Amino acid sequence: MKQFNSFHARLVLLFGSLFLAVSIGLTAYLDRLASVTLAKAAGDALFSTGNSAAMLISRTLAEREREIRLLSKSHLLTSGDLQGAEVQQLLDDIRQSYPFYAWIGLAAPDGNVLQATDGLLLKQNVAQRPWFSGGLQRSFVGDVHEAVLLARLLPKQNSNEPLRFVDFAAPVYGTDNSIRAVVATHVHWSWVHDVLSSVLTADAANSGVELLILGSAGHWLHPYEYIGQLAVPADLPPAGQVALIDWGGKQYLTSRIRISTQFGDDLGWQLILRQPAELALAPVTKLNRQLLWYGAITLVLAMVLAYRLASHFSRPVEQLASLAAKVAQGGENVVFNVSSKLTEIRYLSSALSSMMVKMAAKRQALLQANITLEQQVATRTADLERANARLQELSLKDALTGIYNRRAADERLQAEFATAKRRNHRYAVLLMDIDHFKQINDQFGHETGDQVIQQLAKLLQQAIRESDFVARYGGEEFIVILPATEQSGAITMANKLCRQIEQQQFNTVGQVTISIGVASSATDDTDADAAVREADVAMYEAKRAGRNRVMPQE
Ligand code: GH3
Ligand code: MG
Ligand code: MG
Repeated sequence: MKQFNSFHARLVLLFGSLFLAVSIGLTAYLDRLASVTLAKAAGDALFSTGNSAAMLISRTLAEREREIRLLSKSHLLTSGDLQGAEVQQLLDDIRQSYPFYAWIGLAAPDGNVLQATDGLLLKQNVAQRPWFSGGLQRSFVGDVHEAVLLARLLPKQNSNEPLRFVDFAAPVYGTDNSIRAVVATHVHWSWVHDVLSSVLTADAANSGVELLILGSAGHWLHPYEYIGQLAVPADLPPAGQVALIDWGGKQYLTSRIRISTQFGDDLGWQLILRQPAELALAPVTKLNRQLLWYGAITLVLAMVLAYRLASHFSRPVEQLASLAAKVAQGGENVVFNVSSKLTEIRYLSSALSSMMVKMAAKRQALLQANITLEQQVATRTADLERANARLQELSLKDALTGIYNRRAADERLQAEFATAKRRNHRYAVLLMDIDHFKQINDQFGHETGDQVIQQLAKLLQQAIRESDFVARYGGEEFIVILPATEQSGAITMANKLCRQIEQQQFNTVGQVTISIGVASSATDDTDADAAVREADVAMYEAKRAGRNRVMPQE
C-alpha cells in the first residue's frame, strides 16, 4: 500500500476514478438510451410488417368475396343455362385468372352440383357443406378447413400438408328473384403463403421474423407445421402492441394484429408475428458490445490522460522533494529552479531557493567565525605554550644567579644515572661550598654576599664544557655534573675550577675560595643521589682538611 502514498499515485487514482465514473456513467446512459430506441425500432419494424401482411390478407379476402358476388350477379348465371357450355367456360376462365382457385362450381338449391371446373363433384350433393347453406342466404366467406369432398379429386399442392380451402359462396337469383343456385369458389389456403412471403422481406426472414395466423378457435391456421405442435402463449400482447413473450422457454419479440374483413363475416383471424429476442435485439447487443469497446478504449485513453495529468501536477512537487532530499543528504549547491505554471509551486520553489541562499550565507559566516576562532585558539595556545615554557624555565632556574637550581640538578642526576646504567659508564659529581661565607656576609653585607654568589655562578658557567652541567645546589653551594667522566678526569676538572676561583678577584670582596668534594657514580649505585652523598662527604672532608681544596671520595 506504500506505493499509493505518493502524491503522483494519489493523483492518478483520483483522476482515474473520476474518469472511470464519468465514462462508465456516460456509457451506461448512452447504452440505455440506444437500447430503448433500438428495441422500439425492432418492435416498430415487426409491427409494420404485420400491418402490411394483415392488410394484404384482408384485401385478398375482400377481392375473392367481391369476385364471387360479381359472379353471382353475372348475366349468364342469373338468366343463362347453368349447365351450359358458356357457364362452364366462364367458370374455367375465372379459375384460370387466379392461380389459387381450386374449384368453382354451381349447386342447385337442393344441393346438387350443376356445374364445376374440371367437372369435379358434378352431380354430387353438397347440401351439408357450410358454404352451401351459407351461400343460400347471402354472400358467404368460410373459415379455413380441410378439403372434404375434393380431397381425393384434387392433387395436393404441398406433399406435407393436406388440402385446405377457404370457401366463398353467394346465392344466384333468377330474374324473378327466385333462388337459382349457389355459386362457390374454393381457394387454396396456400394463397396465404404467397401473401405472407410477399410481405416478408429477405432481411426480416433472415432475422427470424415469423408470421403466424391464429384462427378464431385459438388454433394455428398457418403455418401448418405449428398446428398442434406449437402452444399458443397465454400472455400474447393485446392487439396492436409489441411485447417480449416467452414461447416455451425462448424469448420472442411478439406482436398481435387483428385481420379485419371488409364484409359481413368476421373470421376472427389474428396475425401473430414473432422474432427471437436475440435476433430482434441483435443491434442492441451489437451496440452494447461496441459501446463496451468504445468504453474500454475511452477508459484506456482516460487512464493515460489521468497519468499524464497527474504527472503534470506532481512532477514539480517530486522535483522539489528530490532537491530537498539532496539538501538533506548534505548537498550545498542545490538550486531550486523548478518551473511550473502553478503559483504555489513557484512560490515554494522561490522560498526554498532564498532559504538556500540564506543558509549558504549563514554557513559562510559560521565558517569565517570558525576560522577566526581557530586562529584565536592557536594564538592563545602559542601564548600558553610560551608561558608554560617560561614557567618551566623558571621552575628549573635559580632566581638569583640565573643558572639551574637544585630541582634541575636532581632531574639531571636522574637522567645521568639512567644513561650511565644503560651505557655502562660513570658520571662524576663535584659538590662545592664557598669557604667562610658567613664572614663575607657579616663583613660586606648580604647584598655583597649575593653578588659573590652571582659572580661565582657566572664563573662556573663559563668554566665548564657545554656537555657539563652546573647548578646552584643550596645557599652558597654549587654542583657540577660531568657526564661519562672517570674519577681522575673529575679531580682534574675540580682542581682547575678551584684554582680559577682562587685567582679570581671578586667585586668588593677580593679573593674567594671554595672547597670541592669529588665523587664518581658506581655501577652498583641504587639511586642517582649516591654519588652526591659521596661528594658531600668528600666536601666536608675538604673543609675539615683546611678548605680551598679538592677532596675525592674515599
Ligand atoms: P665554612 O667555611 O665552614 O663553609 O664556613 P661558612 O661561614 O661558609 O659556613 P656555612 O657554609 O655553614 O655558612 C653559610 C652561610 O651562608 C650562612 C648564610 O647566612 C649564608 N648564606 C646562605 N645563603 C646565602 C645567600 O643567598 N646570600 C647571602 N648573602 N648569604 C647566604
Ligand atoms: Mg655552606
Ligand atoms: Mg661555606
